[in-house]
Amino acid sequence: MSLAAALLGGPGPVQRRAIAKAITLLESTRTDHRQQADALLTELLPHTGRALRLGISGVPGVGKSTFIEALGLFLIDQGLRVAVLAVDPSSSVSGGSILGDKTRMERLSMDERAYIRPSPSSGTLGGVAEKTREAMLICEAAGFDVVIVETVGVGQSETAVAGMTDMYCLLQLPNAGDDLQAIKKGVMELADLVVINKADIDAAAATRAQAQIASSLRLFGQLGHPDHAHHDRTIWHPRAMQLSALKADGIDSFWAAVSEYRDLQTANGRLAAKRQAQAQAWMWERIQAGLRQRFAEAPAVRAVLAETTAQVLNGTLAASTAARRLLAKFSGENDHA
Ligand code: GDP
Repeated sequence: MSLAAALLGGPGPVQRRAIAKAITLLESTRTDHRQQADALLTELLPHTGRALRLGISGVPGVGKSTFIEALGLFLIDQGLRVAVLAVDPSSSVSGGSILGDKTRMERLSMDERAYIRPSPSSGTLGGVAEKTREAMLICEAAGFDVVIVETVGVGQSETAVAGMTDMYCLLQLPNAGDDLQAIKKGVMELADLVVINKADIDAAAATRAQAQIASSLRLFGQLGHPDHAHHDRTIWHPRAMQLSALKADGIDSFWAAVSEYRDLQTANGRLAAKRQAQAQAWMWERIQAGLRQRFAEAPAVRAVLAETTAQVLNGTLAASTAARRLLAKFSGENDHA
């Protein structure tokens, strides 16, 4: 049986092995593997797109794995299949992984209706995100109903995850200091839903945080949209809610909000438009990354790069002139600069 047939053949051990094999293939750095992976993606693409793609982020310790496990078990209970993928840029820097702990989501990982894959562990954030995006397509073709993409709240990984999911949820602790951090980093503006976790510890603090975040979200809405859009009930306005992942209290309300988001954004066409825009942005992001790499590797560029850089550093060549010269070398043009 071909890999595609095994993936499309419905749940079971054969499909499980096929998913692992397909993801290993697309994470491989070998050129022939990459070609096979691309052919596989092209074959599977018509079977993708039916899952809900949910992004979840938050700082270490906020309760991501506790929450995802509680949510995953809840969804499985509803008869849905759940895949959990991760984007962990720290793994490529440190070699260790913040998200990769094997003991995480123990109950969920033992369930056949769930599939949990740790973050790809090599390459740049763009490279790691690319593999996760492709793994998401594999899981969709395999018929998972919900694909959760998790990331830790460091660096640019939140933006990458928001750029590959339908709905982006930010987990927060019930204390104001952290909320300010998220606002400062611009992460809050990405969120469709902000979830204040650990509400069981201090209900009053969680309620205060919820009110504070809700008002920040309204402010972002007013800044981002003309006033009439803000009152438009046919589009989603980001909101804040509180729950306790540890006690699995509030998971049903969370899922109700996600379902409302999906229904609304499907009916008004925004979900489809978002996915199109994401795919296009993704293509260009990868083109830029590819060009940058080819540029750095091109012999004509390498031959003069050190000297040209030195000229920029010692002030004998303008930075923009240097860039034009190097680009001309790269594309094999005559050097007019
Ligand atoms: P992650 O690093 O974001 O994945 O966070 P974890 O899910 O590993 O949770 C970090 C710690 O917070 C663990 O000790 C959890 O048991 C605890 N925790 C997670 N959610 C809650 C919650 O809703 N209430 C309480 N009291 N503790 C929680």
